[in-house]
Amino acid sequence: MTDRGLMQRLNDGEKVIVAEGYIFNFERRCYIRAGPYVPTVVLEHPNLVKQLHEEFVRAGSDVVQAFTYYGNRAKLKLIDRLADLESMNRTALRMAKDCANNTGTLMAGDICNTNTYDTSDPNNKENMEAIFKEQVEWAVEEGADFIVGETFGILDEALIALDVIKTYGKGAPAVITMSTHNIFKNGVLSTVDGVELTEAMKRLESAGADVVGLNCTRGPETMIPLMEKIKKSGVKAHLAALPITYRTTEEEPTFHKLTDPKTGKIVFPLNLDCALNSREDIFEFGRRCDELGINYLGLCCGNSPHYTRTLAESVGRKPPGSKFSPDLSFHCFYGIDDIVNKYLPTANVLG
Ligand SMILES: [Zn+2]
Repeated sequence: MTDRGLMQRLNDGEKVIVAEGYIFNFERRCYIRAGPYVPTVVLEHPNLVKQLHEEFVRAGSDVVQAFTYYGNRAKLKLIDRLADLESMNRTALRMAKDCANNTGTLMAGDICNTNTYDTSDPNNKENMEAIFKEQVEWAVEEGADFIVGETFGILDEALIALDVIKTYGKGAPAVITMSTHNIFKNGVLSTVDGVELTEAMKRLESAGADVVGLNCTRGPETMIPLMEKIKKSGVKAHLAALPITYRTTEEEPTFHKLTDPKTGKIVFPLNLDCALNSREDIFEFGRRCDELGINYLGLCCGNSPHYTRTLAESVGRKPPGSKFSPDLSFHCFYGIDDIVNKYLPTANVLG
C-alpha cells in the first residue's frame, strides 16, 4: 500500500510517471482486435494484463492504470459483449489494484471518449453520464486512487466526464487529458467543439480537474509545443503530457496524418510501426517535460516497457528495470568484446 496519493506527490513537486498504451500493446501481441479496440484480453488472458502492469511498474511507472479504456457500455455493445461489461471492468480494476498494492504504486481508474456523443440527441448528456457513471463507481468500489478521463476530442464530453468523476468519484482526484486533432477555428487550434485549446484547459481547471493536459494522438515533437503554450497561458492545475510514441511532425502533426516515407500512404492505424520514435526521442521528451515543469508525464499508444524505462531515466529515475539498461562496453562491435577491430578492421561495418 502507498500512503502518498497523487495530489500529495504532485503538490510536493514530485514527478508522476504513467505508462499507458495497453490497447496498441496488446493489439501488436495479437490479443485484441484492431478496429473495435476493446480490451477483451482482460477476461480472456488476465495473466497477460497482470504481467504488463508489472512490466510497466518495473520500467518506472508510478501508476497502474486499470485497463478499462474502451471497456465502456457503448464499445461492448458494438462487439455484442454487453453482458461482460461489469466483469470486464471489475476484473481490470482488481488486477490493477493488486499490482499497485504489491508495488507501492497508485491505481488509476480510466474512462475515455465514448464515440457516441451526439448533440442532436436530446438525451445526449444523460447517455454520456450513464456510460461514465457506472465505470467511475466501479473504479471507486475497487479502490482507485484517482480517476483518469482521457482522449477527449470534444471539450463538452470531457466536462461531462469530469462532472461524473466529481459527483460519483467520492473525492478521487480527476486527471483529464484531451486529444488534439488538427482542427482550427478562426486560425487557432481548437477542440472538436470549437474551443481554443488553452481556453479548454482553463474550463476544465475551473470545473474542478486536478490535473489537465494532453494525451494520445500527437507524438512528443508536436505535443511539447502545445504543452508550452498551455503552460504559458496561466493554467494553474498540474499539467499532464502523455504523447503517442510516433514521430509526428509539423506537417503531419497527429498519428492520423502520418505517412509512410516509402509509400507516401497514410499509416494510421495499422502501419504506424514505420514511424516509431527512437529511445532518444523519448529521452528528449522527458527532458523537455522536466524543463517545462510538467510533472504528470507518460506515454500513450505505441508505449512499451523500454520506452517507459527511458522516460523514467530521462528524469533521473533508476527503476528496477534499469538493472538491464544498455551497457555497450560489452557489445561485440563497440566494447571490450571488439570483433570489429579484431576481425573486420577494413569492413567499415559501422558506417
Ligand atoms: Zn493513445
